[in-house]
Formats: sequence, structure tokens, C-alpha cells
Amino acid sequence: MNMEPMKYKAYLLSNFKTIPQLEKMNAEDIEAIEVVGNVLPFKVNNYVINELIDWDNYKTDPIFRLTFPQKEMLSHTDYELMRKTLQNTQDKAKLKEIANKIRYKLNPHPAGQMELNVPSVGEHKLPGVQHKYDQTALFFPSSGQTCHSYCTFCFRWAQFVGMDDMKFAMRETDLLVQYLEEHQEVTDLLFTGGDPMIMSYKVFSQYITPFLSQDNKTNIQTIRIGTKSLGFWPYKFLTDADADDFIALFKKIVDSGINLSIMAHFNHPNELKTQAVQEAVKVILATGAQIRTQSPLIKGINNSADVWAHMWREQVNMGMIPYYMFVERDTGAQHYFEVPLEQAWYIFRKAYQQVSGICRTVRGPSMSCTPGKVQILGVTEIEKNGKMQKAFALRMIQGRNPNWVGKVFFAKYDSKASWMDDLQPFYGNEFFFNEELREMIQNAG
Ligand SMILES: *Cc1c(COP(=O)(O)O)cnc(C)c1O
Repeated sequence: MNMEPMKYKAYLLSNFKTIPQLEKMNAEDIEAIEVVGNVLPFKVNNYVINELIDWDNYKTDPIFRLTFPQKEMLSHTDYELMRKTLQNTQDKAKLKEIANKIRYKLNPHPAGQMELNVPSVGEHKLPGVQHKYDQTALFFPSSGQTCHSYCTFCFRWAQFVGMDDMKFAMRETDLLVQYLEEHQEVTDLLFTGGDPMIMSYKVFSQYITPFLSQDNKTNIQTIRIGTKSLGFWPYKFLTDADADDFIALFKKIVDSGINLSIMAHFNHPNELKTQAVQEAVKVILATGAQIRTQSPLIKGINNSADVWAHMWREQVNMGMIPYYMFVERDTGAQHYFEVPLEQAWYIFRKAYQQVSGICRTVRGPSMSCTPGKVQILGVTEIEKNGKMQKAFALRMIQGRNPNWVGKVFFAKYDSKASWMDDLQPFYGNEFFFNEELREMIQNAG
């Protein structure tokens, strides 16, 4: 690899004032990092700072907005509360108490993750596994529960501020393997976090070994790795001490007959521009692995059809496969980043129109909510009580009950709706899945 190695350096609240580029920032914006950063997670690294952000235009720079806390992410009242608390005390317990008070107002656990998706083997709960859809189990290895840099909009933010104490995490693979052996319907194992690509080779490879072994009795046919490392730290695959080991492991997975899919999280085409990311994509693809891409639609970062069309085309040019456009979830600073559903559909459609069928592998806009993944097909007019009325046409891409998958249903049109909970059924009092979902929740409780 003819690339200069780069040594990873992270900035957290404790040392962010040493970021040289802060001299480009005004005092109010610097203060916001500290105030908001005490409530929501903050971590950014030297690659993001030096290679991705245009500091002369930091206020509107998408990657700055993606990684640095901004004042409006908190309500005015909460911002002032945290700001004044910081002025008056250095006491860690007091700061935490106030921060937690604000955090609990920000819906830290969306989509019933805590109650509904945790499976068991016999008596043993598997806290590091979520199994919501038949074919795919999510695995949260305990040493993968952080990231190279945090995203301001992250829906898993609660675990990074210590609210969860890594409730969804497991060290061992024994129970996982046993569970997968008992559940032959699971064909896909998705490593997630945090970011599993934060792990060293030594740790990560232990999680993979059981699936490469001769006596593997699971039905795992695809291993997916959900990661933001191509966007935030491509040196992981290039010049880090164990980069070559990772690449060799990817090849070994593919050669064993398992389909390996890197689920790469890219939020903006600026993340595709550096030499490092371009090289990293090449070395990964050369192993025979696929790279599929996904991102939420986020106000102030990528809420433009042209940005998405550009991003999908660029990804395809680099050999990657556009996979999902998500709707920003109902947690954290959602009010700051949310895009109304109608607008999300408009942006998706306008972007989709600009690209060829090769880019149209992407699905969206999709909401990952308690019943499943709900796609906004569009705004349309349908008849009710003898008159034509505006409605959202929706489709279940994934369902907690597999019978729900592929169903089309309607919700009353609402120009302000930005999440499933804002929607009312168009016909009748309930959506088709509500009754069954209530039963599932009761049985889980
Ligand atoms: C999105 C998601 C998956 C994977 O769904 P695919 O449509 O197969 O990509 C699996 N589990 C959960 C909980 C999810 O949110």
C-alpha cells in the first residue's frame, strides 16, 4: 500500500479544545460543543477533522454538522439548563444528573428495542442479540460498542453516554452460535454496534471463527458488518497495524462460501472523495466482499435530491451497492434533523429519477419502527366516503410478523408528520398490524 500511515487520534470533551481548527470557529459555536456534548455523545478524529471538513465554511459543512454538536440540537430551555449548570459546577455527579434529566426527555430507546427483540437460549437471555426479522439476527459484540467518531443524529446515542451500560452487548459467541443453530431460519448475521470495525483483528476474528469452522451447524449464509469506518476511518483497512489481517479475514470468509457484505454507512458524498476511502473500498472489494451503503436522510446534512443522486452514482462508480435510505428516528435531537415524510419521499423520488436502474437497488425512505420497516411509497389520492382524499401510501419492507411483509396500507395525509407515530390510519381506527402488535408486546411484557 503506497499510502502514508495515519495514526488515529480522537478528540472527546476532555481534549477538544486542542483541535487546531477551533481557531476558525466563533465562541458561541465552541461553547455549544461543550454544552451539547455534555448531554449527547461527542467524539471526532483527526481524519474527519483534517480530510473531510471544510473549516472555512464549517457552519454549513455537512461533515461538521455530522460530527460536531450544535446549539439547536437541544431545546432552548435544556441548552440553558446545561450551560448554567456547567458555569456553576464541575461536580461530575451533578452534571450527570442534569444531563440524564435532559436525556430522558429525548426518547433514548426507540422502537421497542429494549423489551421486544432480545432472544434467549433455554434460560439464558442473549442481551447482545436482537432478532426481530426471521432471516436476520443482529449481534452487538461487547467490544464493538463505540465508533471512530460519533454522528450527531445517531439513534444509538444512549449507549455512548453510559445510559445503557451496554445493555445490548455480549462477549461470548457460544450462546450466539447455539441460538443460531436452533434457529435455522436465520441466514444473515449482522455485526453491529457501535461499530464492529473499532475492534482489533485479534478480538474481531474470535467472533468470526465459529462460522468458518468445519462443524458449524448454523444456517448463516451471509455475514454483514454494519460500519461507518469507511466514512470515518478508512485507514482501518489500509495502514492500521492489523489492516492486512482484516483483509485476509474478509477473503477467508468469502472463500469459505459465506457471502460477506459490508454495510457501509455514508451520509454525504464528501465522505467518498479522499484517496484513503477510495483505496479502502478497492482493497475490500478485491477480497470478494460486497459493500452496500445506507444512510438516514438528515436535515442540514443531506436533505437534497441532488446530494443523494450524486452519492448513489459515486458509490456505484466505486463498486458499491446503494441499499437503504432511512427516515431519521424519533430519538435524540430528532427535532433538529428530521425531514417531514412528504418531503423525504419527494427527495427520494427526485434523486431516484436522476439515476439509472443500476443505482435503484436502494430502498426508501424507510422508517425502522416497532412493527417493522415501513416504506413511504408516496402521497396519493384515494376515495373515502365518496370523496377523493390525500393519503400516504405505505409498504411494510420488513415486519415483526413475516406475514406483514409486502403489505401496502394507507395513512391520513399530514404535511407535518415526520415519523410513524405521527400517522393516523386512513381507513378504520387502526393500522392492519396494531392488534397483533399489541398482543406481541403483551406477551413480551
Ligand atoms: C434493518 C434491520 C434488519 C435488516 O433488514 P434487511 O431489510 O434484511 O436489511 C434486521 N434487523 C433489524 C432490527 C433491522 O432494523
